[in-house]
Amino acid sequence: MTVFPIYNILAVPDVNLYVKTETYQKVTGRTPVPEEKLVLIVAKEDLDREDFAPDSFYPIGLRAVISEVNPNGFLMLRTANRVNLDDVVVYRDHSIDLSLSRRPDVDDLDREDAERRLKAVKSAMLEFAEGFQWGQAARAFVTQWTSIGEAAVLMSPWMLNSNAERYAVLAEDSLAKRTEMLEKLIYENLEMGKVHREAANAQEQDHQKIYRESAIRKQMEYLQHELDEMHPEDVTDLRKLEIKIEESGMNETARKEADKVLSRLKHEGQGAESALLYDYLDFLASLPWKKEKARDISLDEAAQVLDEEHYGLKKVKERIIQQLAVMSLKRQQSGSILLFVGAPGTGKTSIGQSIARALQREYVRVSLGGVRDEADIRGHRRTYIGAMPGRILDGIQKCGVSNPVMVLDEVDKLYASYNGDPASALLEVLDPEQNSTFTDHYLNVPFDLSDVLFICTANSLDTIPEPLLNRMEVIQFQGYTPIEKLQIAKRHLLPKAMRSVGLREDQLTVTDEALEAIISDYTREGGVRGLKKRLETLCRTEAVKRVRGEGERLTVTVENLREVLDAHPVPHRSVPESVRPGVVTGLAWTPVGGEILYIETMLTRGSGKILITGQLGEVMKESAQIAVSLVKSLYPEQAELFEKNDLHIHVPDGATPKDGPSAGIALTTALASLLCDKPVAPKIAMTGEVSLRGGVNPIGGLPEKLMAAQRAGVEQVFIPAENDDDLRDVAEEVRNALTITPVQDVAEVLAALELAPKKPALRQRSRRPGPKAETLSA
Ligand code: ADP
Repeated sequence: MTVFPIYNILAVPDVNLYVKTETYQKVTGRTPVPEEKLVLIVAKEDLDREDFAPDSFYPIGLRAVISEVNPNGFLMLRTANRVNLDDVVVYRDHSIDLSLSRRPDVDDLDREDAERRLKAVKSAMLEFAEGFQWGQAARAFVTQWTSIGEAAVLMSPWMLNSNAERYAVLAEDSLAKRTEMLEKLIYENLEMGKVHREAANAQEQDHQKIYRESAIRKQMEYLQHELDEMHPEDVTDLRKLEIKIEESGMNETARKEADKVLSRLKHEGQGAESALLYDYLDFLASLPWKKEKARDISLDEAAQVLDEEHYGLKKVKERIIQQLAVMSLKRQQSGSILLFVGAPGTGKTSIGQSIARALQREYVRVSLGGVRDEADIRGHRRTYIGAMPGRILDGIQKCGVSNPVMVLDEVDKLYASYNGDPASALLEVLDPEQNSTFTDHYLNVPFDLSDVLFICTANSLDTIPEPLLNRMEVIQFQGYTPIEKLQIAKRHLLPKAMRSVGLREDQLTVTDEALEAIISDYTREGGVRGLKKRLETLCRTEAVKRVRGEGERLTVTVENLREVLDAHPVPHRSVPESVRPGVVTGLAWTPVGGEILYIETMLTRGSGKILITGQLGEVMKESAQIAVSLVKSLYPEQAELFEKNDLHIHVPDGATPKDGPSAGIALTTALASLLCDKPVAPKIAMTGEVSLRGGVNPIGGLPEKLMAAQRAGVEQVFIPAENDDDLRDVAEEVRNALTITPVQDVAEVLAALELAPKKPALRQRSRRPGPKAETLSA
């Protein structure tokens, strides 16, 4: 007996079943022979499976006989009674052995009723078939059905039910129930078919509408173009706007908004609102909706561009090249957001411009200094009088491409106000997760900013909100040494300034000494902005001379510098030769670079009051209090001086606000010098936070501070030992010019300056040796 697994398990006894000869051969491995007896068994899952196991089959099957082998490639099977599959053995060659027993039907069907039901099923089936492509073919079959079983078999391939649901029909012993189940399947399918058809129809209608609409629109555009070409003189502003919108390549959402506003504009005519609507559409259509393709990046060429346009900045350039390499590897047009931090004039903005040139992309600068209103970033809603787009989209529109390098200048100068928090709006602009659908309130439709390469600049990190800072990678611009400034002036600033006034290279010479003098005597800055201005003045003065015919070849030297620059030298802040006890040189960091400052202390007759002046911030005032307590504990013998006198601490310039903990070590030393009545050489400077126990904690801005120290003529600097690593960022010439002494404890400074505490403190120290901090706090 041949075993023939089937899928079409709506097969019930007593029907004719058509099977493809090919399928039969595939499953049984042989040619069909008429009158051959088969058992149709039902596999639970996939017919393509080759690894059948005994439990892959449902426990009830069906006997059948091949009644006809049709030359057209079909077999006709006649099914007989159902069988239980008592035992199934599957061999390696996939042949199957079965032991079977007959499974009788329970004939409880009312014959007359059966005929009526067959009729009903037939008409249901015809209705069902109507909605499908095979409907016409099925019609002929359906009308020939003579039993409800046959109906079931022939219908089953079209039913949308699962195999398990179909098998349930085969497994049902009661004929009445089985018929009922069949009917249920058919009627259910009929309903499902209806729903399916309705959905398909609705969808088709929608599609048809869309196609029709777009076809009509295209035709209209085409005809309008033809008309425009025939009568170019008649093309109205409105029509020009329409053309601009059509050609802008805007997406579906934007186009819908444009159409809406356009129809309002047409309605409005010359009304009050028309100018606003017109401006809006013009802005919308002039945004770069079309995406720019990513260009291949050559790292060597990029490095060359950066080197050509900027002197020095080695670390910064290295980091930029890394960023470009990552972008190239990931085939992205934007990467992590870089934040350039440093004093003004250190080249942060202009290197942004060089990056754009290196990438052969457009450059756009958006200044955020002093922005208080969220609408400056995100635009005003159009209902607002005088509504405008925000600065970001405005920048995008001006540069006209979707992938510019956008420098957001001065992100440290955004302020939250009652008009919202611009920093949080900026977060949305910079967040790669959100900025592909950035919605400017004015534009009112999303615009994709994901291809923009953002670079932010700031003078200081202190005022940048944490969430914004977290999204950016900080790159420090340390400021330039005088030697670097000389090179920048010679190679870049002077040639540029000469070109801008129309002087040729052979018409003006500025000696190196004159340039050095400008750097040291006429500017006081970490960057080169002042230097640039001085050189521009110099070139203008020389240009006048040349026009007046005062010389063919002009030369600027140290001698005629003052006259050429028409300015007094900047009062030079350099350390004096000597000062009195209680005064110590400190180092400060400011957003415009490093500075030296003096800590001045004085005792006057009084009753132990402490007076602090010089516009010190809260943190610096606390440092002063710590220094007083520390010195009292270090010099117990002299401590009563503080009780019998008033102490005055002053930090000039009185008008400049100062803050931060880094003057702690200088404050402590100044007080020690006062108590010991011994001056500290002004050429010795120091920076470091001090704890109540005397430990010296690290500080920020060390490179800028050391540069300022060198500029002012300081010879030795005490720095926190923990800042040792930062020395790598300090220019070699600065390091070589200074004796840098890292310290862990303020006691080391006092000892080095021979201000060591006298007996009691020292005795304590030698009696109970231990960690320094412990001893000092005793
Ligand atoms: P920042 O943005 O840091 O305030 P800028 O980028 O505006 O500074 O720089 C001020 C001027 O100094 C620009 O003209 C710039 O080209 C020039 N400049 C700054 N650093 C360098 C450098 N390393 N090489 C050449 N020119 C420089």
